[in-house]
Amino acid sequence: MDLDKAIRKVPDFPKPGILFYDVTSIFTSPQAFRYVLDRMDDLYKNAEINGVIAIESRGFIVGAPFALRRALPLVLARKQGKLPGETVKQSYSLEYGEATLEIHKSDLAPGKKWLIVDDLIATGGTLKAVATMVEKQGAEVAGIFSVIGLSFLNYTEQIGQYNPKTLINYDKK
Ligand code: AMP
Repeated sequence: MDLDKAIRKVPDFPKPGILFYDVTSIFTSPQAFRYVLDRMDDLYKNAEINGVIAIESRGFIVGAPFALRRALPLVLARKQGKLPGETVKQSYSLEYGEATLEIHKSDLAPGKKWLIVDDLIATGGTLKAVATMVEKQGAEVAGIFSVIGLSFLNYTEQIGQYNPKTLINYDKK
């Protein structure tokens, strides 16, 4: 499977100078989508994982079927203001301004090991914010998975300690 071919690339989106790697074009191909899930199964076959945290919104689409295949609890990390119960929150910097993610406190069992899933790692700030919430709750990060990695943005500086894994890497702009 040539995953690169299955990823739509859109120049100058959402703003000039950014090449947007659109993971949603993978979901339009059942073969490519199944390939992603099969590769995740292989990568984490022997890993000790007690649950999956999927990040809004494209991370949901990758994290949910993986959790179900492995019969693991699925927890959603959502944008601020969406979750009705008591939450743990973490703000992080975006290129312009700040964003905040939240997780229901009662979903994050202390002492358990969580795999954090998103579609793409750019600077790693989003995934780092989720890892921080996991640790704040006394739980552990079992690993970080993302379909795409942009290694030229040096995300290992932020999240290298959580063993990030990707299926395809782009090493230059
Ligand atoms: P970061 O926190 O910098 O790692 O940004 C990661 C989040 O922003 C992911 O959830 C991606 O969906 C999105 N993102 C950032 N840069 C890009 C890009 N070049 N193409 C597609 N999505 C991106």
